[in-house]
Amino acid sequence: MTTAAPAPFTADDYKARMDRAAQAAADAGLAGVLVAPGPDLVWLTGYQPTAITERLTLLVLAAGSEPVLVVPTLEAPDAERAPGAPALTLRDWTDGKDPYAVTAPLLDVNGRFGVSDNGWAMHLLGLQQELPTTSYASLTEALPMLRGVKDAHELERLTAAGAAADATYEQILKVRFSGRKENDVAADLAALLKEFGHSQVDFTVVGSGPNGANPHHEAGDRVIERGDMVVLDFGGLKHGYGSDTSRTVHVGEPTDEERQVHDTVRIAQDAGCAVIQPGIACQDVDRAARAVIDDAGYGEYFIHRTGHGIGVTTHEPPYMIEGEEQELVPGMCFSVEPGIYLPGRFGVRIEDIVTVTEEGCRRLNNTPREMAIVE
Ligand code: ZN
Ligand code: ZN
Ligand code: ZN
Repeated sequence: MTTAAPAPFTADDYKARMDRAAQAAADAGLAGVLVAPGPDLVWLTGYQPTAITERLTLLVLAAGSEPVLVVPTLEAPDAERAPGAPALTLRDWTDGKDPYAVTAPLLDVNGRFGVSDNGWAMHLLGLQQELPTTSYASLTEALPMLRGVKDAHELERLTAAGAAADATYEQILKVRFSGRKENDVAADLAALLKEFGHSQVDFTVVGSGPNGANPHHEAGDRVIERGDMVVLDFGGLKHGYGSDTSRTVHVGEPTDEERQVHDTVRIAQDAGCAVIQPGIACQDVDRAARAVIDDAGYGEYFIHRTGHGIGVTTHEPPYMIEGEEQELVPGMCFSVEPGIYLPGRFGVRIEDIVTVTEEGCRRLNNTPREMAIVE
């Protein structure tokens, strides 16, 4: 995996995103968008404070106004180095000043603002106290698709992250499973993700035997044995964009039942991918995958949604879940990851990231989905 690093995003790229966010907010009837440090700020400006502290950092976007980043004076030099900084005005505030009084003149006093989900409550409360007539909405609820449709440069990064996750899977099949702890295999996965260019590992699930039946089990001290099904689910960030793939392997020869459950999940995963095309609803992907599992009699054991979006984070909108009527648009990227979890026995999950194309979808994970036998 000696792929060259992609060209960095430019100030113009960030300016276009900020303009789009301000316009989308106006279209949604909002006075603007308030963005705290986190994935939205990274996506909009490329700025990621080294430590997120109690000091207010806030990007203020409103249609017709220049973007302003409110920052603590001591962090202003860092903010100035952010790739999106040339497209921004910095408004710094010094310890001892009231940051909300500094921010207030930037806001429409009677406006309603979309607020990024991950901001600190104390800052929103501070603004509310300073401007009692403003109101606030969840940015994710108001503009769920703000980051949902990826451009060609984002797709390139997601494709590279997917390829690195695939390379990780190919290598992990060569390590020994039986007689080693889940934690040991998880450490192997993390090391491989880094080796293949990830800067950040978000999760390395190794769910062996009964642990595989708990979708949120990460990895533990259980020693993997011959006869175990093992759910592997791993991912993180490479060049700032996410990977997330899952395969379920078996240590030694599987039973007929294990084969049947694995086949069911594999067929369900294919069915979910097969219906993807522009214009269908997110819930249709969930329904297509779920129908296969229902028909095979395992419906009550598929206990989570079928997929989630991915981008500068490994979990974000859109969600492939019953009730989500958001239409698919070319450039959306999300997981298709049905599973069957038999309590106390074993679990199976198969997951690829896909991107919606004009004709259907393209998978960003392309390792074999048939059950691999490991030692
Ligand atoms: Zn078995
Ligand atoms: Zn996953
Ligand atoms: Zn996932």
